[in-house]
Amino acid sequence: MQMTYDPNNIFAKILAGEIPCHKVYEDDAVLSFMDIMPRSPGHLLVIPKAPARNLLDIAPDVLTKLILQTQRIAKAAVSVLGADGLTLQQFSEAAGGQEVFHIHFHVLPRWEGIRLQSHPAPKADMAVLAEQAAKIRAALG
Ligand code: 5GP
Repeated sequence: MQMTYDPNNIFAKILAGEIPCHKVYEDDAVLSFMDIMPRSPGHLLVIPKAPARNLLDIAPDVLTKLILQTQRIAKAAVSVLGADGLTLQQFSEAAGGQEVFHIHFHVLPRWEGIRLQSHPAPKADMAVLAEQAAKIRAALG
């Protein structure tokens, strides 16, 4: 199993500011932004700034900061988008469904009776992503 961090992955480029994103939250350890192919309205990602491929190699102190901010952001997203619930996903390695090899949690707001879009979902309207990101940012204060 390949376990080496590839610094050229797409989320490393987002962290470096080389690729734009619709930012939801940022601190010294964590970045959160909207997923460009959302499988539910408000689908967002939370990543650590420190390099790690996935749950199999992330340092415990980095994981602690990541999950604590993920909970805070998820609660804000559910509240401000008026969702009924939430699905949290994390895929590790290709066999586990991972496609981008910088660890991330998927935060998927959910509504009663509405299924997740199957993967790959269509690319989102950027104006909608910008509006959702602004709402969640405002809710986070
Ligand atoms: P994985 O299967 O690795 O857990 O999922 C990777 C996620 O990253 C997918 O949901 C995909 O839509 C998202 N994604 C891929 N490329 C980009 C990108 O350039 N920007 C953003 N915001 N999301 C991306």
